[in-house]
Amino acid sequence: MYRQRGLGKGLRRMSTGLVVVTGGSRGIGAAICKRLAADGYAIAVNYASDAVAAEATVAAIAATGGKAQAFQADVADASAIQRLFAEAVETLGPLSGLVNNAGSLGQVAPVVEQDPAALTRLFAVNAIGTILCCKEAALRLSTRRGGAGGAIVNVSSIAARIGGLPGLAPYAASKGAVESFTKGFATEVGAEGVRVNAVAPGMIATDMTGDFLSQPGVRERIAATTPLGRVGAPGDIAEAVAWLLSPAAAFVTGSVLTVSGGR
Ligand code: NAP
Repeated sequence: MYRQRGLGKGLRRMSTGLVVVTGGSRGIGAAICKRLAADGYAIAVNYASDAVAAEATVAAIAATGGKAQAFQADVADASAIQRLFAEAVETLGPLSGLVNNAGSLGQVAPVVEQDPAALTRLFAVNAIGTILCCKEAALRLSTRRGGAGGAIVNVSSIAARIGGLPGLAPYAASKGAVESFTKGFATEVGAEGVRVNAVAPGMIATDMTGDFLSQPGVRERIAATTPLGRVGAPGDIAEAVAWLLSPAAAFVTGSVLTVSGGR
């Protein structure tokens, strides 16, 4: 939901309602939580295990006058997802959006060395977790089910298009699944007032990429293969997500927005 109001000289837009951000405790997810809170949304900061980081994100939002609460749930666990949405709506009010950001690289290894259990877990988090969170969101947002409509953004990766860095073919495939699902689900719920898009980040400096980027020369090498000449920051992705969630993107659905510095 969205309203506009005049404040002083300018026009300030205030978004309303609750946005659930999975994996909101650290990295890209934490930047998304803070950016969306600044737009006026109440934020459910989901995390898997790092309660301290989740509470730090909540505190940062509260310090700027925003509204947020942390909710533990492993997105690979279907019943935990149901609990996450039920508790978030009960605490922070009606749902207006969802950002499926929680993700994992899985086992970084050639395919011949991949462990089946690790592959199952990877797809449970990145692909099935995204689908099940979309299900819970659609049950509440769909105008056919009494909802007021809303928007969903799924966080993919340019790995879906380029196949991933060495040892990350399964990760790339899990993000390919996210993009295919985004397109199909957008078609399914478009007439029910729900827009569904994806953001495909390039290399972003977070805990996920920290070990890789801190190897000698790697950060510079990645930057050199990127037309804009740098590695991205979590805030670069948060801006794209905020736009896709907002009414400024009212005619955009089923799209994948690449935010990669041109890579
Ligand atoms: P990160 O720094 O490792 O943070 C991951 C976040 O996801 C944390 O908040 C973590 O919670 C949460 N999480 C992980 N597994 C979860 C699970 N099973 N259930 C619930 N939450 C879970 O990662 P990031 O770099 O910010 O990446 C965020 C998203 O962007 C991921 O989907 C990733 O694939 C995608 N992406 C990242 C890059 C990049 O270069 N960094 C590029 C392309 C796409 P805890 O704090 O509790 O562990």
